[in-house]
Amino acid sequence: MQGRKLTQPQFQDGHPRPDPLAEERQTNSRRTGQGRGILRGCMRFIDLTHPMRDGLPGFQNDPQLRVEPYSSMQRTMCNISRVTMSSHQGTHVDAMAHFLADGKAIDAMPLNWFYGPARIVKIPKEAGEEITVADLFKHQAFLRPASRVILNTGWHREYGTQRFFAEAPSLTREAGEYLAARKLRLLGLDLPTPGRETYAIHHALFAPEVETVLIESLANLDAVPDSFTFIGFPLHFAGGDGSPIRAVALVA
Ligand SMILES: [Zn+2]
Repeated sequence: MQGRKLTQPQFQDGHPRPDPLAEERQTNSRRTGQGRGILRGCMRFIDLTHPMRDGLPGFQNDPQLRVEPYSSMQRTMCNISRVTMSSHQGTHVDAMAHFLADGKAIDAMPLNWFYGPARIVKIPKEAGEEITVADLFKHQAFLRPASRVILNTGWHREYGTQRFFAEAPSLTREAGEYLAARKLRLLGLDLPTPGRETYAIHHALFAPEVETVLIESLANLDAVPDSFTFIGFPLHFAGGDGSPIRAVALVA
């Protein structure tokens, strides 16, 4: 090889080949905040999850979220926290077992229920207002059996306040039953609960012939386009009635 100048000396001394896609991966990584993975081209994740922070307000009758130091660097050379919370803390999914004695628990719900194409439906509401059948009927083209639909009322902007729970907009009982009749695969809400008639609406959505996945307290819905891939898996609680999820939108 005399006389030929090697511009990549790492070939000679046994270092790995330079990665021809490194620059593209770096660009994608900066754009998406992700490392190497399945993401292609311009795909990116948008977080739809409220942060879990010690002392955040919660449902009045639920265990309050506590995140406390348990072990520290000084004591045990590592940090460990004790987390106390409701199974319905923050951005979370309800299992059918939340309201039905013989309904599916978290670990009986198929994983593909929590992943797939989703559609945002915008129904802006203020404190205490009702979401009616008429509000939903305008979007009936998107309320198809087996579809994933997320209602953006704008109330997610109130998360972290007491009024988020006390003054949330509410589906009417009829609106809840209308959604149940549409047999959606997944219904996402930026509300802490579907409505003031909580028993009737949950029972309609969780009935064995419906079994709509209900996601509550979604965040950041103003940041997503109308269509995206929803991902939001629960923790694997054996027999669980609900679980926090890390909800994200995968956007092309
Ligand atoms: Zn819940």
